[in-house]
Amino acid sequence: MAPFTVMGAARALRGGAVTSVQLAEQVLKRASMVEAQVHAYLTLDSDGLLQAAAEADEALASGGGRGPLHGIPIALKDNMATRGMETTAGSKILAGYHPPYDATAVVRLRRAGALVTGKTNLDEFAMGSSTENSAFGPTRNPWNTDRVPGGSSGGSAAAVAAGTAFGALGSDTGGSIRQPASLCGLVGAKPTYGAVSRYGLIAFASSLDQIGPLTHTVEDAAVLLDAVNGPDPLDATSYPGDLPRSDGRLGRGLEGMRVGVVSDLGGLEAVEPDVDASFRKMVAAMEREGARIVDASLPAAPHALSAYYLIAPAECSANLARFDGVRYGLRVDGATTEEMMSRSRAEGFGPEVVRRVLMGTFALSAGYHEAFYGQAQKVRTLIRRDFARAYEGCDVLVSPTSPTTAFPLGDRTEDPMSMYVSDVFTIPSNLAGHPAVSVPIGLDRRELPIGFQVMAPALGEPVMFQAAEAVEALAGFDTRAPYDPGFGLRGGVR
Ligand code: GLN
Repeated sequence: MAPFTVMGAARALRGGAVTSVQLAEQVLKRASMVEAQVHAYLTLDSDGLLQAAAEADEALASGGGRGPLHGIPIALKDNMATRGMETTAGSKILAGYHPPYDATAVVRLRRAGALVTGKTNLDEFAMGSSTENSAFGPTRNPWNTDRVPGGSSGGSAAAVAAGTAFGALGSDTGGSIRQPASLCGLVGAKPTYGAVSRYGLIAFASSLDQIGPLTHTVEDAAVLLDAVNGPDPLDATSYPGDLPRSDGRLGRGLEGMRVGVVSDLGGLEAVEPDVDASFRKMVAAMEREGARIVDASLPAAPHALSAYYLIAPAECSANLARFDGVRYGLRVDGATTEEMMSRSRAEGFGPEVVRRVLMGTFALSAGYHEAFYGQAQKVRTLIRRDFARAYEGCDVLVSPTSPTTAFPLGDRTEDPMSMYVSDVFTIPSNLAGHPAVSVPIGLDRRELPIGFQVMAPALGEPVMFQAAEAVEALAGFDTRAPYDPGFGLRGGVR
């Protein structure tokens, strides 16, 4: 069997079992088979990938190529700036934008030796949970093409699940790495706020946005994260100190680990029975492996969703003000400058982005600022305190990642609230700035993947991945299913 994980490919490459060109060809062959249905990519850079792979092979042959990701094809969510490669953030307003620079995470990924396959689809400006808000058409879930891959990093998740990349970077503001990882049967990690530089990540909500990995295994996620994290003078919010190695506690198992099960996350009543059953089964398995299961409480968490939908839109309304028809992308002419700006924005932004900008502008307007934005910030403080208290009694917290498995395309597009609740369990970690990871633990009755979330305190990536790896081993989940060429794609669209 050809390698399908980042580390599997890296080992095979170093051992001389495959070449980087073969890895690139494997990815491109798979893309030629599935992309027409899955549509994970907005830009698939076949020529660039093959050329970079040939160079990687040459470097290796002449004794170079020491980076941990040397010669491995990795996909990037299309909200990360890539020099000379179109970067759209899934929006019409940025169509045709070719950044003159690479995002810091991209610079570091390349420095670690990785090859960029291309840019993956996303909900416009990362606003959404299904990738249906992309201006360039939806991505479909490789496990079942009638269903969404989740979002907003749905293209990155679908690319890895479908075998058109060995791993991918996504971004997570309220769940956009973990929820698509959950829906596509992958590992997806959001690091501690500030761990990965946001320089060159097209901003959605700056106090929440983080870049992180989507991969087949926990080990891959830790390696990919450590390749891109660390202080960056170009991002004043990047964490200035040394970060612990994400793989520092792998292989240590669960013996003695205190695992908190959160009993009062809002939205627990919406959890599908199969998701609930798998979650409980895994908690029991962890206990058998030596974990100490404790009850944990985050009393303010049921307000997290409301607070998020004030804070994130408020920040996005400020961040998206720069798309004015003057500096970037789309310009629609008008009689006056104001008319040009307003026409450019009206044509360039899709309905969800407009909704967020309106909500955010309203929440920040004079007279309402304290009642809405101020109140939401207070809730954020309470949630941070709740977490601090909870972590006095446990090392990690666990919950389902998403209340449901992958839903059918179109199911939630008419009702924004039904889409927003996709992230009830993931948002609290963003508000607190804490790391969290989703690990696949099984399939529901429709054979759709179920994800298990492990949360940890700030800079707790080592213990988070330690627990996640143990969960992965207990689940024994085969993340390869839709990747396996023998599997074929299911669903109505061909
Ligand atoms: N689904 C959430 C939203 O629409 C989270 C998005 C994200 O994490 N980028 O805002």
